[in-house]
Amino acid sequence: RDIVIETQDLVRHFSSGGSGRTVRAVDGVSLSVERGETFAIVRESGCGKSTLARLLLRLIEPTAGTVVYEGRDLSSLSPRQMRAARARLQFVFQDPFSSLNPRMTVGTLVGEPLIVHTGLSRSERRTRVGELLERVGLRAEHAERYPHEFSGGQRQRVAIARALASEPTVLVGDEPVSALDVSVQAQIINLMEELKSDFGLTLVVIAHDLAVIRHMSDRVAVMYLGEIVELAPADALFDAPGHPYTEALIAAIPVPRPGREEHGEALGGDIPSPLAPPSGCRFHPRCPYAVDRCTREKPMLETAGRGRLVACHRQKELSLAGVGAAVAAG
Ligand code: SF4
Ligand code: MG
Repeated sequence: RDIVIETQDLVRHFSSGGSGRTVRAVDGVSLSVERGETFAIVRESGCGKSTLARLLLRLIEPTAGTVVYEGRDLSSLSPRQMRAARARLQFVFQDPFSSLNPRMTVGTLVGEPLIVHTGLSRSERRTRVGELLERVGLRAEHAERYPHEFSGGQRQRVAIARALASEPTVLVGDEPVSALDVSVQAQIINLMEELKSDFGLTLVVIAHDLAVIRHMSDRVAVMYLGEIVELAPADALFDAPGHPYTEALIAAIPVPRPGREEHGEALGGDIPSPLAPPSGCRFHPRCPYAVDRCTREKPMLETAGRGRLVACHRQKELSLAGVGAAVAAG
């Protein structure tokens, strides 16, 4: 296995205001991303900024644990080495408007990384910017314009062109399409997949929407209250989820059926506060299969079939329904 990024027991806690309490945003996450794959991380919706994405790029420091990129612990890198590593690990955010300086032309925005990371002359940079814009489905003339002159989808294309300018090996998309219309979402996802194969990229996609990642990911890690509860090949995960939380997420994906507008059953109960996660299995207050043991004893991530890890005491005895079952039942 050729591992590009690996985290070991990664933890990030925040103190919450003056209460002195701790938000466990990321709470002991170990995962490894293989070169050339699309690795999806499913996070809870409405939990604010993606702490995990920021940890992967070391935009924030972990409370504990490590991030290893290309075999090197990011915390051991000098500032200069860190800048070089960061060029190779590029980020595409949810809201490209906030990540694109509104006073810079698109040409300046996309050309800026070329100044830092290449020895290209001014005119060579202009040519390269034009090529990058065309590569992401825009036109070279768009270099003269400003971000506000573009639609949300086009701005995301600009952000991707800017990311590509520093010749990354890894593209981390943090909710890269969740601010866009559904029809535009598919275009941006297709673009990312095309670029992945053309440039030999590794993709890490962090999203709350399973429908978004379903067709593009090779492996999926599902997070709940800061922990991974299931990690599995995408096909296996969607066909037969191994964890009750994954099952609930899959059931909530709208199933398109002719003549019927149907949405799966949404998961009951509120997401407990990350200030005070439940005892035992953190999912137990919302889990339809919870038993007494679940309230007391924390389940560990354990191997459950080929390439699959699940953190559930009842994983072996439960036979959970996936997309296949949902469609068959229709
Ligand atoms: Fe549900 Fe218990 Fe499994 Fe947690 S350990 S997911 S509460 S069955
Ligand atoms: Mg696929």
